[in-house]
Amino acid sequence: MTQEIDPSSPFRGVSAQDAHAVIEQIEAAGISFLLLPQSPYGLCWSLELDAEELLSYLQDPLGYSARCHRVTRDQLQAWIAAEGHRDVTCSAQTAKGQSCRNPVRGSTPSNGPKEWVAMQGGYCPIHGGG
Ligand SMILES: [Zn+2]
Repeated sequence: MTQEIDPSSPFRGVSAQDAHAVIEQIEAAGISFLLLPQSPYGLCWSLELDAEELLSYLQDPLGYSARCHRVTRDQLQAWIAAEGHRDVTCSAQTAKGQSCRNPVRGSTPSNGPKEWVAMQGGYCPIHGGG
């Protein structure tokens, strides 16, 4: 595992060991770290991070978030890019040869990353989606 700190992190220029020591002191003072949904990769829910997790997050926010959501980095990036159209559309073609535009069974505009990935390639109820 790399010990590099993300260049955009507040700990840039600080060794991982030093950063860890600072974070542990803050933790020991009774202060906790909460990753909020509106932070760049906070995404769906609030998540309390311990010193180890906070460092992992700062080193690789996208990778850490992908692991939390149990998807790959590429899948999470695709989900983020799909913001605003996360309703997964049916993979079938209509009789006229056009793509069916109905949502996959169970899809909603607010699908989370894991659900969104699982529904890719699925079908609407008309085309046998179950
Ligand atoms: Zn369909």
